[in-house]
Amino acid sequence: MRKRPLLSSSFSDDEEIFLSVPSTDSARSSLYFITRQPHVAGTEGDRLMADFVANEFQQAGIPNVTTFDLKVLLNYPRNPPSLELVEASVETEMEQVNRNSSDRFEKKHPSPKLIYKATLSEDILDPSIDDTTDTIWRNRTFHGYSPSGTIEQKHVIYANYGRPQDFKLLEQAGVSVHDRVVLVRYGECFRGLKVRNAQERGAVAVLIYSDPADDGYAIGPVYPEGPWRPSNGIERGSVQFNSACGGDPLRADPRYRTLLNTSVQELCGVDFIHELIPSIPSIPLSYRDALPLLQNLGGPVAADISIDFVGGLGNLTYHVGPSRGVVNLIVDNENSVRDIPNVVGVIPGSLPPEKDMPVLLGNHRDAWVYGAADPNSGTAALIEVARGLGRLYTEHNWCPLRTIYLLSWSGEEYGLLGSTGWAELHPSLLKRALVYLNTDTVVSGDHLSVSASPSLISLWKQVLGDLTTTSSSSSSDHMERRKLQHKLHFANPPYGEIRDANTNWEMQKTRGGEDDWKIGVLGSGSDYTVFLDHFGIPSMDFSFGKSTGHYGQYHSIYDSFAWMDQFGGRDGERGSAFDLMAFAAKIWGILAIRMATSEVVPLDLIVQGQALTKYTTHIEDQLKSSDELKLQNLTSAVDSYKQAAAKLHLKCKNNHKEFKAQFRSMIESRYKVDDCNEKIALSERRFLSKDGLPRRPWFKHVLQAPGMDLGYAAEAFPGIQQALDEKNFALAQVQLDVTADRIQAAATFLSESI
Ligand code: GLU
Ligand code: ZN
Ligand code: ZN
Repeated sequence: MRKRPLLSSSFSDDEEIFLSVPSTDSARSSLYFITRQPHVAGTEGDRLMADFVANEFQQAGIPNVTTFDLKVLLNYPRNPPSLELVEASVETEMEQVNRNSSDRFEKKHPSPKLIYKATLSEDILDPSIDDTTDTIWRNRTFHGYSPSGTIEQKHVIYANYGRPQDFKLLEQAGVSVHDRVVLVRYGECFRGLKVRNAQERGAVAVLIYSDPADDGYAIGPVYPEGPWRPSNGIERGSVQFNSACGGDPLRADPRYRTLLNTSVQELCGVDFIHELIPSIPSIPLSYRDALPLLQNLGGPVAADISIDFVGGLGNLTYHVGPSRGVVNLIVDNENSVRDIPNVVGVIPGSLPPEKDMPVLLGNHRDAWVYGAADPNSGTAALIEVARGLGRLYTEHNWCPLRTIYLLSWSGEEYGLLGSTGWAELHPSLLKRALVYLNTDTVVSGDHLSVSASPSLISLWKQVLGDLTTTSSSSSSDHMERRKLQHKLHFANPPYGEIRDANTNWEMQKTRGGEDDWKIGVLGSGSDYTVFLDHFGIPSMDFSFGKSTGHYGQYHSIYDSFAWMDQFGGRDGERGSAFDLMAFAAKIWGILAIRMATSEVVPLDLIVQGQALTKYTTHIEDQLKSSDELKLQNLTSAVDSYKQAAAKLHLKCKNNHKEFKAQFRSMIESRYKVDDCNEKIALSERRFLSKDGLPRRPWFKHVLQAPGMDLGYAAEAFPGIQQALDEKNFALAQVQLDVTADRIQAAATFLSESI
């Protein structure tokens, strides 16, 4: 292996070669091709883009490229949805009974007066949109996994973000959602959980709209004048209940039965599919279509219930309803079991299979329409990583110690289908996986954020430090370097932000000052979930976004090449988004190279221990009295872990020194290093509990999970936290002991003699 040069660079020769490859122009041309047509999971466009990525990997010189098809349940809009607001007919109760029991009566009634017919489609504002081929996706706006349904003459209630606390406030104000249509705005929690919450309270349908307060004109100029969401922009998306279980809600692929002899019931701990996807219909709305509904609401003034209920539509007094008029809604979706293509590129490592620890890099490729930012900015970066690694492999005889996987997923948008299916169907490969490095919307602005397993934080800082303080062979990183140097000036906490740290980039808000550079805890909402939460593989997700965390065109037809070119990068700098994609590829690739080639695996268990202390303190801080929970087991497990990690660290350092200095040829000292790596790399698996978290056994990691009511954002010690939130102290104690037991198991594993 080539060595690091003595002067001028903190990069090894191999790394320098890699860094010379990712380019702005190449990222631009990949993204241009991928965004030419819609590529929703399971459609022809998806297959075409999978073939494109596979071909790019091959051209790049990745030696082993295959496509892994997975059979999954999807749904598509059969017809455009329809939504009308009409005047409520003044009926006596007797008439209502008659109407329900007799069709003949209905015919005698004049049809109620139309107040507003929703457009439910996006306009053509953008040269990227080809109306001849793309009309379907522009006009048939829908929610992934929403069932079909016809709702007639129901009143509307506005329920803010649709969180449990929002419904509680409505209840306290005497406003019921039972047998009504619930109108909520996007934001704060995953959209599927809004539907779940409304359904549990007896609502018949849900309308979810994008309020301009979050990513529309209240933030800045709207597209095409500026980056933000125009009045007709619509956020599509899945309404799967993602905090219960990831992946295909049917586990329709026959390999689940034949190879694994398991089912979704067993994996996700559910009895029937409607514990995972909704039984009531829902559709997404633009604020153009939501406004007439909001204007029609009577009942209490929203601000009197809570100021938090007030959105950003100017000149409107938000009420909560019921509406004076009633709505008719038709949703006509069809379910379809289809194959989705996942592209898998492999660079084999030199270690024998029993010692190999695969390094996994993944990004989803399927999009709701064109997906220029979400997710194909990440796909363009992945192709640049492939080109860089391919150059090393083909032209420089490079061979990493550990096998590298480049993974291009489909079906993420419906609920992390491709990644979850591939992972669940490859358990033996994953048994020894070292790390999963994800990107999704890797570029939608120029603010860098990262969420990661704490053991990866030191490597992240090292790589970012090197990329921003030394001269790599490319000079096009100049701007990124300057910006990041500025940010790095502010010390990072050596562990993740927890709880409401909004760990998903798609939802991320900046907490603290602009330069207060934070490292988040991974929640969910992208493809790392199965690797981290189900298999216990240290994971990371990073992105360049806008400072508000939103980018204005999320899941809309305007998330297009034209938008990206003009607004996706540095403020006002056309084309700069493609520089950032190339730069993201450099970060991603150097992380991967160091993971795959370091003799001692670069996971920092000391930092992991510090995070455990922080999580424990966070639980302690929430307890009002000392006898609510007995924390002894937890604190002593954390202490043992930290001691074991510190001892192991020293021992491994010495082993490595020995190996390098005197005994390089001695097989014995090589084995000592291998043993260290086993401990360091596989200790995270000990954090998995056999039974998983309460009511969601698929989530097995006791250190972090998406909040049950949040869907995206993470909770630390989720079993304990969940029980505390429910004020169930008995369960909290059980979960505390389970958590302590897992940490103790990791500590014991680390201290077993090597
Ligand atoms: N990333 C997608 C979304 O936010 C899917 C997330 C999930 O199903 O967990 O809509
Ligand atoms: Zn995405
Ligand atoms: Zn998405």
